[in-house]
Amino acid sequence: MSIIKRAISADGSVVASAIDSTDIVSVIERYHQPSAVVTAALGRLATAASLMGYGQKNEGDQLTLRIDGDGPIGGMAAVADSWGNVKCYANNYIVEIPLNARGKLDVGGAVGAGTLSVIKDLGLKEPYVGTIPLVSGEIAEDIASYYADSEQIPTVLSLGVLVAPDLSVRHAGGFLIQLLPFADEACIPILEKNVAAMPHVTQMLEEGLTAEDIVLRCLDGLEPNLLDGAEVTYHCDCSRERTSRVLVSIGREELQKLADTGEDIEVCCHFCDKKYVFTPDEILGLIRGGDA
Ligand SMILES: [Zn+2]
Repeated sequence: MSIIKRAISADGSVVASAIDSTDIVSVIERYHQPSAVVTAALGRLATAASLMGYGQKNEGDQLTLRIDGDGPIGGMAAVADSWGNVKCYANNYIVEIPLNARGKLDVGGAVGAGTLSVIKDLGLKEPYVGTIPLVSGEIAEDIASYYADSEQIPTVLSLGVLVAPDLSVRHAGGFLIQLLPFADEACIPILEKNVAAMPHVTQMLEEGLTAEDIVLRCLDGLEPNLLDGAEVTYHCDCSRERTSRVLVSIGREELQKLADTGEDIEVCCHFCDKKYVFTPDEILGLIRGGDA
């Protein structure tokens, strides 16, 4: 289980959340078997989606982070529910590029130039979609820029994924600090000092700090109160029924063509690689509106 904790400053000016997402990113590694830089990129995106999803107001709300980039990953997305559970996929899982100038996995280079879209499905007729150009493709910076530009919320976001030489996930986590409306600006220099003094998130996890320790450290000097916390997982909610609905959405004509081939068709879930097989008779059933 990965753990999220949330805290608020005593005066209600600033809220912070932190996550140890090592287990989630380990599942991503197991399901998708990506190369190291893709594990880092997807791990950061999923960690951010979980932190942002957990903050949503209503049960059933869904938050998607989608990156469309011209780098070798070719795009990726992470979807979180209102409990912070998350699932994700990338267009290309095997990307081999040199380390960046700082000797780190070059996530920005693997993502390339492009856009970040934040899609909030709040159960209304149309989802809310905010799209911004990528700042660096390093993900945390891009999401902080989205909050500043599209939602006018001053935000600090830090994300980290440490991949071991055998490609397993050693540590993954992140923290999100946001000023609330009518915040007392006196807290800003305190937060800046805290953030500057904090080691990288994977280093704090390496030192044995928990999500609770990290969230309290974010708000050090502001009399933080713990709000709540949750266990979160990599969770795919795909099913045969949902897959049938996707098939129906491609239209009668296309379904008839599939049925006419006389062969079973296999639909693979992007998020968990689960396979659903439909026989030609079942495809004809979908055309007739029956259950497959
Ligand atoms: Zn699935």
